[in-house]
Amino acid sequence: MQQNLLSQRVQNMAESATIKMAQMARNLTAQGHHVISLSLGEPDFDTPKHIKEAAKQALDEGYTKYTPVPGLMELREAICEKFKRDNNLEFKPNQIVVSNGAKQSLANLGLALLDEGDEAIILAPYWVSYSAIVKLAGGKTVLVKSGIENDYKVTAEQVAAAITERTKMVLFSSPCNPTGSVYSEAELKAIADVIAPHENIMIISDEIYEYINFVGGHVSIGTFENVKDRTVTVNGFSKGFAMTGWRLGYMGAPAWLASACAKIQGQITSGANAFGQKAAAFALMADMKPTQAMKETFLERRDMMIDLLREIPGFKVNKPTGAFYIFPDISDYFGTSDGTTTINNASDFCEYILTTAFVGVVTGSAFGADNCFRISYASSEEDLREAVRRIKEAVSQLKK
Ligand code: PMP
Ligand code: GLU
Repeated sequence: MQQNLLSQRVQNMAESATIKMAQMARNLTAQGHHVISLSLGEPDFDTPKHIKEAAKQALDEGYTKYTPVPGLMELREAICEKFKRDNNLEFKPNQIVVSNGAKQSLANLGLALLDEGDEAIILAPYWVSYSAIVKLAGGKTVLVKSGIENDYKVTAEQVAAAITERTKMVLFSSPCNPTGSVYSEAELKAIADVIAPHENIMIISDEIYEYINFVGGHVSIGTFENVKDRTVTVNGFSKGFAMTGWRLGYMGAPAWLASACAKIQGQITSGANAFGQKAAAFALMADMKPTQAMKETFLERRDMMIDLLREIPGFKVNKPTGAFYIFPDISDYFGTSDGTTTINNASDFCEYILTTAFVGVVTGSAFGADNCFRISYASSEEDLREAVRRIKEAVSQLKK
């Protein structure tokens, strides 16, 4: 009965698949199973000590009050400096909005830009919350899809073909969650060139995995002259600095859009937490060695995981060049059964893996890729080896 009180908005919303799978893994753990959860994209490392110390100091200094909605000036200045230093992007503090995670930055943007029926082109596979945010804002998702055969990257021609009169934004991440693919400078330039003539289209470039890039030379699409005034660069502290629980993300945007996002945020959550912002400003200007060390470890794990996963019959495994995910195509298993459970799609596959191997992974259908599943390798080598061993054993029971 109470259900009827819920808005259509929330009734039409899918629960975040990453968060749902992580919760299912926790539930099975609580029942006494030894579950290895590779479902949530979260570094297993602790936040570097010097950043934690900076937060403690900020608390002692009295950073316990509200901050300006778009963030402490000190942090916004540090972000401008970071954008210049790392990305060759020019922003002024009035173009920066700090939020409760990059997730809120993206939600602010969806709400600020989309009217009912406006179209958002999302390059797929894509991060699960993009489409939910577009829908929440009343927009319509238009997926431009790619598969393993083109390294999970869409072409500029595909983007051009998806543009209509109603297109308001093009949204993507590079390095990409869930595939780990990194768009090259030439690929980004080609995409910028097809969007450039359409003056009503904004590009939302989610660069939260910037520092976890194994090919080096991160390129921001906002550096191209023909789209620089229409690109929003989103980033955050969760991945590169192992600060997921701090809830700190940010955007660099044209001033008119940054103030619209601050207006929305001012009515919903206000500024992000004060002492965290102080520590974040410090993190951006401090020694980046811990970030570099985490990346090196992710790279070692990526290589190990590719080797292990490629040994499993029927797994088509890409070679990600960033982030900490692998996205195998397992469509060869569709139509197989262990005698009790039949695998008809990637969701069935993930459920089977969770309940028989006690390994949590996420179905590709949550990311716009029905043939695949996502493994996060942000876990210890020991857990990763054991997880793949169990997956291999579980799928060996599946027969046509
Ligand atoms: N974008 C992408 C591509 C992500 O994987 C994540 C993961 N959490 C986010 C945005 C949001 O990050 P957060 O809200 O923790 O800053
Ligand atoms: N971005 C991470 C993931 O894709 C964290 C979970 C989430 O925020 O959805 O798993």
